[in-house]
Amino acid sequence: MASQDAPPTEGPSPGSSRAPSLVLINTGHGKGKSTAAFGTMLRGISRGWKVAVVQFLKSGDWKVGEEKIGRRLGVDWWALGDGFTWDSENMSETEAVAREAWAFTRRLVSEGDHRMVLLDEITYPVNWGWIDPAEVVEMIRTRPRHVSLILTGRDAPSALIEEADTVTEMVKVKHAFDHGVRARRGIDF
Ligand code: ATP
Ligand code: MG
Repeated sequence: MASQDAPPTEGPSPGSSRAPSLVLINTGHGKGKSTAAFGTMLRGISRGWKVAVVQFLKSGDWKVGEEKIGRRLGVDWWALGDGFTWDSENMSETEAVAREAWAFTRRLVSEGDHRMVLLDEITYPVNWGWIDPAEVVEMIRTRPRHVSLILTGRDAPSALIEEADTVTEMVKVKHAFDHGVRARRGIDF
């Protein structure tokens, strides 16, 4: 008797084409955007790929966990957001840092040395008007064919969503932070 809960009798149907590279976006307001990207990064590394990570937000100490292990695994890692100031009096300087980070990233992707480039939290400087989404679209379209990209951050602009192959929205069902629990070492950073 067929029931909704019966185990499947057939495997998933195979896709019909093999892409030289893919563009992934992890967005939404739930937890897991960056950690899912780092999980995918591990898959790339396990295939012997050269992987790069660019982090667009100030990280300070709290992201050192994944940076440390990433570097140990041979990942080229840039925490470019470290130059951001968050001081409203220094906003033009902060914007300049973001633009410089973006110029660096475009160069990095176009050089094609890395088969996977993870652009962590890139949606924020885009949404704050510091990086033109049209330039991000152009970067995606003109990248070397073998370079896969993973973009993370809340509220990914529609222009980027249209351009990506795989987009996942993390939906917050619950978050410990909402009932007063601070970010936890080993789980959140
Ligand atoms: P993670 O790095 O854990 O995968 P994320 O990349 O999805 O999280 P970000 O918006 O980058 O989420 O937030 C980074 C930090 O904020 C992490 O410590 C994460 O646990 C925490 N965080 C994520 N979602 C929420 C939320 N809805 N409310 C409060 N804190 C959150
Ligand atoms: Mg994140």
